[in-house]
Formats: sequence, C-alpha cells, structure tokens
Amino acid sequence: MDRVAEGYVKLVLAMGAHDADYVDAYYGPSEWKTEAAAAKPGLDAIASRAATLLGELGRTPSGTDEMVTLRRQYLERQLSALAARVRILKGERLTFDQESKALYDAVAPTYPDTHFQQILAKLAQRFPGKGPLVTRYETFRRQFVIPPAKLDAVFKLAIQACRERTAAHVKLPAGEQFTVEYVKNKSWSGYNWYQGGFRSLIQVNTDLPIYIDRAVDLACHEGYPGHHVYNALLETHLVKERGWIEFSVYPLFSPQSLIAEGTANFGIEVAFPGRERVEFEQRVLFPAAGLDPSKAAAYYDAQALVDRLSYAGNEAARRYLNGYISASTAATWLEQYALMPADRAKQRVRFFDQYRSYVINYNLGKDMVRQYIESRGGTPDHAATRWAEFEKLLSSPRLPSGLGAGR
Ligand SMILES: [Zn+2]
Repeated sequence: MDRVAEGYVKLVLAMGAHDADYVDAYYGPSEWKTEAAAAKPGLDAIASRAATLLGELGRTPSGTDEMVTLRRQYLERQLSALAARVRILKGERLTFDQESKALYDAVAPTYPDTHFQQILAKLAQRFPGKGPLVTRYETFRRQFVIPPAKLDAVFKLAIQACRERTAAHVKLPAGEQFTVEYVKNKSWSGYNWYQGGFRSLIQVNTDLPIYIDRAVDLACHEGYPGHHVYNALLETHLVKERGWIEFSVYPLFSPQSLIAEGTANFGIEVAFPGRERVEFEQRVLFPAAGLDPSKAAAYYDAQALVDRLSYAGNEAARRYLNGYISASTAATWLEQYALMPADRAKQRVRFFDQYRSYVINYNLGKDMVRQYIESRGGTPDHAATRWAEFEKLLSSPRLPSGLGAGR
C-alpha cells in the first residue's frame, strides 16, 4: 500500500499544474514536488495513472486492523475523487449532487422553500417592522461588528481560549503554532494554510465587516480544535508515527475536505458546549471589542435561529450551478433565504464559482460529524467521551462514507 500511497501523492502534486486550488497543503519530500513540476503530465496521463493505482490497490492484501482498512478506503476514495476532478477539468458536466458525491463522498439533502420560510417567519417575529427582513436583521446585527482597531486583540483572546479548551483534552504536538494574517479580496472569510511541522498560516479576510461571532468561529474552525489541530494530529499519528506519506498532501477537492470542514465546524460546539460560549463572550470578548455584554445572549439566540438557514446556501449553490438560476438571482435568493446582506451574498456567489459543490462540506459535514460522534456516546453531557471520539476522528483516515451510524 505504501507504493500506491507514493503514487497517489505524486498524482495530487501533478494535478497542481492543472488546477491552482487543488493542492491545499504539502509537506512531503520536496523533490517529489520538483519532479511533478518538471514532468507536468497531461490530464489523460494522470487519469490513466490513477486507474492503474486503483487496480494495484485492489490487489493489495486486506487485513483485519481497522486503521489499515480505513487507510485502504481512504486511498481508494481519494483516488476516485481525483479521477472525477480530472473528468471535470476536461469538461464533463456533472449535476451538483453528482459532483458532490464524486468529489466529497456525500450528497446534501434538498429542502423546499417552505422549510426556510418557517424559520424566516420566526425571525420576522423576532425582528418586526417594515422593509425586507434581511435589512431589519442587519440593522440589529450592526451593533455587533468588531471595530477594526480591536480585531486583532479580540482574535488573540478567542484563539487563546480555544487553545486552552482543546489542550485540556487533546495532546497537542510540542511546538505546534500558527500565525495570523489579515488579507483582502478573497471569496472566503478565513483560510488555514497548513505548512507541515505543526505550523499553520491562518488568513482572515477583512473585505467585509467582521461580527463578534466570527472571533470564536474562526479561532475554533481554523485553529483549535479545527483545521490546525486536524492537520497537526494527522501529521503526528499518520505521517510521523506510521509513515503513511499520503497524509502529507491535502487535495482540496476530495472527500477529506468534508471531514476537515465538518470537524472544524463541529469543533466550535465541542470547545464551547451549551451556554459556555455566551458566558465566555459576555465576560471576555464583548468587553474586549467594546460591545455591550448585556446584549450577548440576545445576539446568540438570534444567531441560533439564523444558523438553521444554513442549508439555504446549499440550495442557492445547487440551483445556480445546475444552471436553473443566474448569479444575480442566486445572490438575491441568498439575501432573502439565508439573510445575507447584499455584499456578503455576492461574495458567496463568487465562492460558488470558485469552489462549487464544496459548500456542502461545511454544514452537511458538521451534521455528519456530530451524528457520528454522538452515536458513539460523545453527547454534549459526556464531555470526556465527546473529546476522545473527536480526537480519534481527527487522527484517523476516516472519510464521509465511514461516518455511517454504528460503525
Ligand atoms: Zn475551513
């Protein structure tokens, strides 16, 4: 299997020449990267090599060890997704659901408009008045923008708290660390670039106003116990301890992304269960941002309701990418159904253009990871089990179809 793994890493690196977003992280042998850049195989050559590797993988003996079984499944699905990405780059048109199945090993549920309308009706009662609901909600929300001059200080406090909470339950590798940079003109709001050696570069996009909830969200999602910890644990347990080189590369358009985004989002709830988040925000972050702490509970109650609209984003992406609606209709739909202000909605459509069905990895990923962890006893009132199962998932090759109940 090691030989297939090496071939897989080299193929992922070769894809980088055809698809600038494909190789999200790589910290394996540097000469492999140089070789891939020099050889520059075409898409057809990559496809046939992927088929050969899949054949070889099928002939490797299977064992009884669960981790080895998971490794084999990982290589099989990651290689199949790579082959699908090659077909897409060559012009094959897949529907949104076909694409997400091929690339991320999962299909997001479809909701009718009435599902969102019920939630919007509750929000309309919460924010009564004239004019569009999105405007009323935005007027309320504007009180919770972090002033740009306080952004870095607020983020540092959030990161510190997320790190402490994670380190209390998860053994982090010695020397792990990350740097934070503030950037502009991106289709995303935050990004973790894993560098290897337990280091990350985290970028925060400051194009749009940053609301107070983003501090903990980004600190957990990009940092602790999210992407930074996931990558550091894979490096510790799979790359360094077992010598499984395939984990030194991370292809963005692959099933691993659903686990990465799903654990990063669910990790927020693991680090701050129940009311602990509001309590922390009230006591620490609101004062640091110069916001009124007495309004924290009302803000997070409203946010909890708005979060239930998250699948509206998938609906907009599905309809837009399937060609049923235009970019401007998709943006208007996001304003109305996902309560995104106009500039945020436009940024989101740019994200659809760049990352396509990747959007399902955030909300469906989070729900699938929650279900998996809770089915193994990691419910909110069993913190030790919750963290232990979460850490185990972050340290394993498990992919979306391996999250099925009871496994
Ligand atoms: Zn992410």
